[in-house]
Amino acid sequence: MIRFEKVTKTYPTGDGLTVLHEVDLWIRPQEYVGILGPSGSGKSTLLHMMGLLDKPTSGTVFLKDKDISTLPDDELSLLRGRSIGFVFQSFYLISQLSILENVELPLFYQKVPHQERRERAYAVLKDVGLEHRTSHLPTQLSGGECQRAAIARALVTNPDLLLADEPTGNLDSKTGSEIISLFSALHDTGRTIVMITHDQSIAAKLPRVTYIYDGRMSDENPAEGKG
Ligand code: ADP
Ligand code: MG
Repeated sequence: MIRFEKVTKTYPTGDGLTVLHEVDLWIRPQEYVGILGPSGSGKSTLLHMMGLLDKPTSGTVFLKDKDISTLPDDELSLLRGRSIGFVFQSFYLISQLSILENVELPLFYQKVPHQERRERAYAVLKDVGLEHRTSHLPTQLSGGECQRAAIARALVTNPDLLLADEPTGNLDSKTGSEIISLFSALHDTGRTIVMITHDQSIAAKLPRVTYIYDGRMSDENPAEGKG
């Protein structure tokens, strides 16, 4: 599904430091992978490249066996819109729109007709257990409900890859566990999931965990075996 070959990323702005060093990573279809690392280690940078929001400085990123550096911007947006759903720590719901309208939005951009948009948005809201909150505004919902709505919005385009950047970072631990259970259920329906976290207790529940530290990846926890 995703393959990184010697991916290096240097931001031209700031101090010009390299934030990813020759990262090799292979995520197979239908895997559920956690990426664990401390703040500033390069996790979000990595996820942005998986989500076609950014390109490597050197090295190659393949998504579904396509070298993304060879694709023009319009094909990248198309691939992103059809294949990838994003979930972030801050839910990024639009406060003036109802939950149903928020979830419809990606379909609006894909020019899906009104009636079909409504039906599909309602169906995914039902899948995440929010069918009783469709006409509420985001401010009327709890944090966990907002994250469910954001997950519904990520799912409404029916992507096969779900990318989550610290999706429980703004939630208490009980609500966070419920969101992790929801991701497990989505994995069971055949989706590929990559989830970033800096929470060891969440990572412990995932089928595969890989670690990042100072922009370098390892399948072994660098925090273990010290001292
Ligand atoms: P994490 O998600 O693990 O906290 P990030 O990928 O956000 O880490 O950031 C890794 C490093 O890259 C940090 O030192 C951060 O300051 C730097 N960085 C992130 N985004 C940018 C950017 N757009 N421009 C310059 N530096 C950045
Ligand atoms: Mg981050």
